[in-house]
Amino acid sequence: MPRKYNFGAGPATMPEAVLKEVQDELLDWNGLGLSVMEISHRSPEFIEIAKQAEQDFRDLLSISEDFAVLFTHGGATMQNAMVPLNLATQDGNADYVNSGHWAKRSIKEAQRYTNVNIAASSEEEEFRFFPKQESWKLSENSSYVHYTPNETIGGLCLRSIEHSEVPIVADYSSGILSEPLDVSKFSLIYGGAQKNIGPSGLGFVIIKKDLLGNPQPITPNLLNYTLIDEGESMSNTPPTFAWYVAGKVFKWLKSLGGVEEIAKINIRKADKLYSYIDGSNFYRNNINTEDRSIMNVPFLLANEDLNDKFLEQSKEAGLLALKGHRSVGGMRASIYNGLPEEGVDALVDFMEVFSKENS
Ligand SMILES: *Cc1c(COP(=O)(O)O)cnc(C)c1O
Repeated sequence: MPRKYNFGAGPATMPEAVLKEVQDELLDWNGLGLSVMEISHRSPEFIEIAKQAEQDFRDLLSISEDFAVLFTHGGATMQNAMVPLNLATQDGNADYVNSGHWAKRSIKEAQRYTNVNIAASSEEEEFRFFPKQESWKLSENSSYVHYTPNETIGGLCLRSIEHSEVPIVADYSSGILSEPLDVSKFSLIYGGAQKNIGPSGLGFVIIKKDLLGNPQPITPNLLNYTLIDEGESMSNTPPTFAWYVAGKVFKWLKSLGGVEEIAKINIRKADKLYSYIDGSNFYRNNINTEDRSIMNVPFLLANEDLNDKFLEQSKEAGLLALKGHRSVGGMRASIYNGLPEEGVDALVDFMEVFSKENS
C-alpha cells in the first residue's frame, strides 16, 4: 500500500527516505550482524552515532561551543520540570508568556518549583494572537523568561525574538528546524523530538554552558542538566534507537540544503494552505495573520455539522489525522518538515472538491 499523507500533530510524519534507510539497516547495522537497537550505548559504534547526530544538529542550527547540546528522556514535558529545577530557585521567580495550551502546561509545572509571573497573556482573546515581545512585563530578578514559539494546538507562533537581559527559554518542540534560528539569542531551547526530529520520547536541550551548575538541591540526578552534560547524555541508558533515527533525520535535512532550504518549502506549503482557506467562505482560520504558525494550521468549517463527513472522506482520500485538538475543535493540518509539498496540494484539492459538493 502506498504511504498516505499524515497531518498528525505528533508523533508526526517522518521523511520516507529516512524510514527506508532504517528499514534497510534494521536487522544488520553497518555489517555488525545486529540491529542498532541491540548494541550497547557505551560501544564505540553507538558513541559514534550519538556524536555524529549532535554534530549534525549543531551544524544545522550553527550552534556555537558556548552551548551544550543534550539528548534527554521524557519528551518536552519533562523539560517543564527540568527548566525551573535547574535554572530557578524555590523562592525566586521566573517569567512565563501564556500563549496557549502548551504554555499553560509549562506554567502549571513550573509553579511547583518556583514563583511564576505571567509576563503576558492572550488568553482573554482566546489565543488569537501571540503576545508581542515588547508587551512582556518581566519581573525583577527573574531567573528566565519562558515562551512557546510555536503553539502546536492553537496554531500561532512568534517568528522572531530580540535579545533580552533576562535569559530566554523556549519550548521549540514544533518549530525546531523548520526555519533558520539565531540560537545565540537564547539561553535554553528545548523540545520533544516527535514533530520535526524523530521518534517520541526523545527530547533535545540546547543550553548555554554558563547556566549549568546551579540546580535546586531537590533536583533528581537524572533531571540535572549539569550531570547530563558531564555524562554526555548517557547518565543512564538513553533512548538509543530514537537518537539513531534523529541522526538520520539531521542528515536528511542537510542533504536537502539545511534549514534555509526547508524553510522555503515550509513557507510555500503554509502560504498555499492559508491563502486557500482565506479565499474560501467554506473554511476559516481565526489566528491573527502575522502570528500564524507555518507548522500547524487549524481551520474550521463554516458548517460544523459537516466535520465528521469531512474527516471520513479525507481519510478515504488518504489524508490522515486532520481532526483538530479537542480543546479547539474543527480541523488541524500539521505540515512539518517531513510532510511533502504534494501532501498540501492534495489537501487543498480535497478541500475544494469537498466544499463544492457540500455548499
Ligand atoms: C508536542 C508538544 C509538547 C509535548 O511533548 P511531549 O513529548 O509529549 O512531552 C510540548 N510542547 C509543545 C510546544 C509541543 O508541540
